[in-house]
Amino acid sequence: MAYIKLSKSNLFANVDNISNTSNCEILAVIKDNAYGHGIVQIAKMLQQKGIQRVCVRNNDEAMLVKDYFKEVLVFFPTLCYNSPNISYTISDIKQLRRSKHKKIHLKFDTGMHRNALSMDEVDEVLKLAFDKFEVRGIFSHFCCSDEIGCDTFIQLDRFKKLKDRVVAFCKLHNLDLPKFHLANSAGVFRLKDFSMFDYVRVGIALYGGMEDTKPVMSLYAKALKQQMIYKNQAVGYNKTYTFCNDTMTTLVDIGYSDGILYFDKELQLKDTLAVGKISMDSMMVIGEYDEVCVFDDVKEFAKNYPNTITYDILAKLKPHLKRVICD
Ligand SMILES: *Cc1c(COP(=O)(O)O)cnc(C)c1O
Repeated sequence: MAYIKLSKSNLFANVDNISNTSNCEILAVIKDNAYGHGIVQIAKMLQQKGIQRVCVRNNDEAMLVKDYFKEVLVFFPTLCYNSPNISYTISDIKQLRRSKHKKIHLKFDTGMHRNALSMDEVDEVLKLAFDKFEVRGIFSHFCCSDEIGCDTFIQLDRFKKLKDRVVAFCKLHNLDLPKFHLANSAGVFRLKDFSMFDYVRVGIALYGGMEDTKPVMSLYAKALKQQMIYKNQAVGYNKTYTFCNDTMTTLVDIGYSDGILYFDKELQLKDTLAVGKISMDSMMVIGEYDEVCVFDDVKEFAKNYPNTITYDILAKLKPHLKRVICD
């Protein structure tokens, strides 16, 4: 059966790298099955490495990992459990008014304009929030920290001003200060020091899906059948790849139903080439193998696809693939 190997040493090296670069506590983003890596496996390793806080997509994910951490922040709250170490993201004032969640983080819009509280309603939001809830955090999200440009600096500036307003509000009303967090992975490596805030909220850098970080996942598939394909024969649906010479090939047990993005002629794997159209449960590779490494560095593998990103390739890998932890 095809399977995923997770490198604990690379995960730990990425944690150290992020800590040393940002000088800040890590709020580890393990949403969406830890970007396809396996949420429970990643949670256990992060706990072992001393990580105390994580972000997840929803309550189901929070339930899976809540026992490993001091705090689990749910990005998209639906049901409400009010477990002592689960916090909920508030990104809309209507949601705030009717929320039954006790412990919250307020997410403000500093420029992304996706899903956050408007900066025009800061006063009203703070009054409502600190009156009824335990406000554990205030955060915002960078939209363009992975590219050159001024947006990141503008957002940083707006967030610093927001922090000043919140601090003044808390002083005036004699309230405990919430924690502040802004930077995603690209933000950390772009601006480096984030010690002016409390956490950095990183995902892809933990998993090695961007420059200067080490890949945590490698993906393997097993041989289903080894066979010679003869000169001028074509393989698979619609015969999209024709062999120029007699060639030994291996059909391996991974296909697009496992989450491999579709290809219709060639896909460069770590040591060989997959050819023809990928099928639902299999694909054909050149050479004779018992086991094939599909990729051991998603940054390289992503170059096969002009129109996607490492996040997409990782997050699509299905939970049914077995995860094996190695050092
Ligand atoms: C997914 C997500 C992150 C992590 O982003 P990376 O680019 O993977 O570091 C941080 N904050 C929010 C709100 C997110 O949705």
